Amino acid sequence: MPSLRVLLPAEKIHARIAELAAQIDRDYPSGPVYLVGILKGACFFLSDLARAMNTPARLEFVGISSYGRGKTTSGEVRLTKDLDVSVEGQHVIMVEDIVDSGITLSYLIQIFQQRRPKSLRIATLLDKPDRRQRAVQVDYIGFQIPDEFVVGFGLDFAEDYRNLRDICILGD
Ligand code: 5GP
Repeated sequence: MPSLRVLLPAEKIHARIAELAAQIDRDYPSGPVYLVGILKGACFFLSDLARAMNTPARLEFVGISSYGRGKTTSGEVRLTKDLDVSVEGQHVIMVEDIVDSGITLSYLIQIFQQRRPKSLRIATLLDKPDRRQRAVQVDYIGFQIPDEFVVGFGLDFAEDYRNLRDICILGD
């Protein structure tokens, strides 16, 4: 059985999400904002963030495939589920679980810019800056973490561990 070591306990995650929500409220005083969650890892972050915000939010999701069942990216990103609506002229915040190499986000940013939103920002719960291969500007960051493979709070390994309340380092 692989080991699990708590890196970020649930209470700390919730407190930080409340701070990010307050920051978004200040940045978008009139709303509405489209929160676009990247499935599946961002599902809990997006739902907690949306409920902590006072700014009116509309929820959308996109699906991508990149990692397969391993711990490292294949480097190839594919859109498997697109938005249900047009976001032209709208404020959009893309909501990601973790930015690692930056390949996924740089691909999605390129696609979303073609949709001509009024503004486009990025929120991520976790950031692993040491592993960056593509420069991406991230506007709202929950936590910067070391170069470890983490699971929980939406993040998986081969579809397991997503519903752990804490974010944990997955060992061998
Ligand atoms: P990037 O394209 O930035 O390399 O990778 C982003 C995606 O890789 C994330 O959305 C996530 O699905 C996956 N990923 C990167 N690092 C981790 C990690 O430590 N744990 C898990 N579970 N997924 C990760």
